[in-house]
Amino acid sequence: MKKTLIVVNWKSNKIVSEATQWLNEVESSKYQIVGHLEVVLCPPFTLLAGLKLKIENLKLKIVLGAQDVSPFPDGAYTGEISARMLKDLGLEYVIIGHSERRKYFQEDDQLLANKVKEALDVGLTPIFCVQEKMTPVPEGVKIILYEPVGAIETGQADNPESADLVGKFIKQRLDGEVVVLYGGSVTSENVASFCRLENLDGVAIGGASLDANKFIEILKNVAQI
Ligand code: PEP
Repeated sequence: MKKTLIVVNWKSNKIVSEATQWLNEVESSKYQIVGHLEVVLCPPFTLLAGLKLKIENLKLKIVLGAQDVSPFPDGAYTGEISARMLKDLGLEYVIIGHSERRKYFQEDDQLLANKVKEALDVGLTPIFCVQEKMTPVPEGVKIILYEPVGAIETGQADNPESADLVGKFIKQRLDGEVVVLYGGSVTSENVASFCRLENLDGVAIGGASLDANKFIEILKNVAQI
C-alpha cells in the first residue's frame, strides 16, 4: 500500500484554546491514524511549541510542520522565524511558496529558493507549492504540492484526473524523484478520488481541516482506499 501524505494547513486560524480543543476532539474520537497515512499538521507559529507537547502527551500519530520559514539564517531580521528555530522545535516539514504568500507578500522565485536552501541546510523537508505544472522548483525539493489558485478556498476542487496528469507531468519533469500532492478545496467527499490516483501521493487540506470531526471523516475516507 503506498504511503499517503496528508498536509493540514490551518493558515492564519486558531488560538491556543481552539487548537487544544481540536486535538482533544481528535483524541476523543478514538480514531487511530493508520500506518500508511502520514499526517503533517501545519498550524500558525504561535501554536507550534504547545502543540508539540500536547501531541506527544496524547500519543497522536501526527507530525508538525510550519507554514513558512525565513529566507535568512538567524540574525538581525526582525519578525522572522529561522529554519534553525523550527528544527529546534522538533519540526520535520515546512510549507514554502504557498500562493497566498506569493500573492499577499510578493514572494518571488529567488526568495523562495533562499527559503528552500535555509530549510534544507538544517534538515527540514520543504513542501514546495506550485500553482502550475511549469512553476519553477528550487533544487533539492522532494515534495511538491500542486495547488491551482482557482481551487484554493473556492469550493471548486480541480478535476482529479487533470490533477493526476499534472502530477505525472511534474514527476517526469523532475526525473521522477519527487512526491506530488494535490491541494485546493479537498473535503471528505472528494479526498478519496485524489488519493487513489497513480501520480498523486496525498493531499493538502485547508478549510476542511479546521473542524476536527470533518478532519477525522477525511482520514477515514482516505484509509478505506
Ligand atoms: C491550501 O490553501 O493549502 C488549501 C489546501 O486550501 P483549501 O483546502 O482551504 O482550499
